[in-house]
Amino acid sequence: MVTKPRRPIRRPRHVPPTDYDVVIVGGGAAGLSAALVLGRCRRRVLLCSSGAPRNAPAPAMHAFLSRDGTPPQELLRIGREQLQPYATVELREACVQAARRDPATGTFALDLDSGATVSARKVILATGVVDVLPPVPGMRELWGRGVLHCPYCHGFEVCEQPLAVYGRGKAVAGFALLLSRWSKDVVVCTDGPAGLTEHARRRLRRHGIAVYEQKLTRLVGRRNGQINYLEFADGEKLPRYALFVHPDQQPRSDLADQLGCRRLTRGAVWVDKRTMTTVPGVYAAGDATPAAQQVLVAAAEGAQAAISLNEQLTREECA
Ligand SMILES: Cc1cc2nc3c(=O)[nH]c(=O)nc-3n(C[C@H](O)[C@H](O)[C@H](O)COP(=O)(O)OP(=O)(O)OC[C@H]3O[C@@H](n4cnc5c(N)ncnc54)[C@H](O)[C@@H]3O)c2cc1C
Repeated sequence: MVTKPRRPIRRPRHVPPTDYDVVIVGGGAAGLSAALVLGRCRRRVLLCSSGAPRNAPAPAMHAFLSRDGTPPQELLRIGREQLQPYATVELREACVQAARRDPATGTFALDLDSGATVSARKVILATGVVDVLPPVPGMRELWGRGVLHCPYCHGFEVCEQPLAVYGRGKAVAGFALLLSRWSKDVVVCTDGPAGLTEHARRRLRRHGIAVYEQKLTRLVGRRNGQINYLEFADGEKLPRYALFVHPDQQPRSDLADQLGCRRLTRGAVWVDKRTMTTVPGVYAAGDATPAAQQVLVAAAEGAQAAISLNEQLTREECA
């Protein structure tokens, strides 16, 4: 049997001393995937994670090759377990509260909620996003079970059931038409004036999609988290199985702003095709970037960040 080398490679003298080669902030799919690749590169890695992954309210994760239907926490458990053989990877339950770049050395200092400060040559932001749900009673309680956001993740589980789509304007019309691929019984709930053009209304009518413009007073669920019915201000109760919504999003962390990374208008951190942000040495992966918000894509971006970063570190070491 071949003995695996576990120690990091010794630091060349011209490389500034730091506690770690890389600090990864966020231990969801993106962060874990980056840690795995970097562990295999024998890099000294600190993976800091605090809080649940974004899909924690859902009972199962779908559309992930080889793991379709796995509970979200189980994927993370496997991800963490598979980091164990890599002795240079350290995992800490910690929230990174502040990050600074030293322009003289290009290294980073990160403050953890434990009060400790750690230093690193590079940083990966895999901090994800927070969904800001419309303030309709029942929306938060049923989120991830009866209230869904992504037909690619959960459409198959509710196919041919009576569905509703929540929202207004052009976006809701497109979303409802997309969902008609999964069910022929789709309605749009605009919770007030629809803001739909005549053209959009015609398209919806043509596909048998009714528009409810009454105020929505609450969503009433079943014990298993599925929706039972939607209740409108005029007292009407509309039986539905699930409601789809594209909630607003906020970055889960302001570390990108602290470091001076450029953000796009909707809050995503701008990255180039190697996942590098506008700040040298700072990489971003997963939902924090503009890529498709899927677990598999987040994991792929984490791997890409790790590869880009390892190659950059190697260039610096072999200068
Ligand atoms: C209800 C729901 C169901 C979903 N279902 C699916 C599905 O079935 N299939 C699918 O492909 N996608 C699904 N998604 C999308 C999926 O959840 C995301 O694409 C994926 O979680 C993104 O991974 P990530 O690692 O970028 O972020 P996350 O999974 O959100 O992980 C980021 C982690 O970083 C931590 N963090 C943030 N800031 C800090 C900090 N300062 N210090 C330390 N830690 C920090 C967070 O607490 C979190 O644990 C679903 C989303 C939702 C909302």
